[in-house]
Amino acid sequence: MPASREEKREYQRQYYKANREKVLARQARYKALNPEKVAAQQRASQRRYYKANVKKALEYNRRWRKANPEKQAAMDRRNRKAHAERIREMARERNRRWRERNPEKSREKWHKWRARKLAMPFIDHVPVMPRDRCCPDCGVKMVGRGHMSNAPSIDHIVSLYRGGHHVPSNTRIICFSCNSAKRILDLAEWHKHCPSKIGGVQLCLPLS
Ligand SMILES: [Zn+2]
Repeated sequence: MPASREEKREYQRQYYKANREKVLARQARYKALNPEKVAAQQRASQRRYYKANVKKALEYNRRWRKANPEKQAAMDRRNRKAHAERIREMARERNRRWRERNPEKSREKWHKWRARKLAMPFIDHVPVMPRDRCCPDCGVKMVGRGHMSNAPSIDHIVSLYRGGHHVPSNTRIICFSCNSAKRILDLAEWHKHCPSKIGGVQLCLPLS
């Protein structure tokens, strides 16, 4: 006959009292034979406790960090080292989301960074959008933002890579698709491939 829960518990208590050594030995044996299982159980129990006592746990952690700054710093160092790849990945992801939310700011930042890196003259400005909003190279109507192919983008007539400066006389607005295809070419080189200059095709084709 299955006893009630209370009876079972009482029986276990009595058994433990009478056979303490045996029970502890059995537990130790189980622990030695199943270290991973036991560790997982411990982690789960810690998680359950943490979940049920978040405030208490946070307060305890805070006090511990304050009382053991060196230990905490060492732990942080170890963690940073052990999870370096994941931390980098998270930062990349954060930056990507920021760039998506702030395409103009992001482009501006990038140009600034390039100019600074190359120690070149830099004049903070946004080139003038053509009045008809058409890309001067392929004729497409420039709409959208960011990395959409028809989105307006800042082109450096002489690319920064080749020593061009981020100044009004060296910038213009062309569609993102043309800009990606132009890469570091100067205008003469680019116009050899540029759709509008070789038969007025109203499509941007990437360079082969
Ligand atoms: Zn274009």
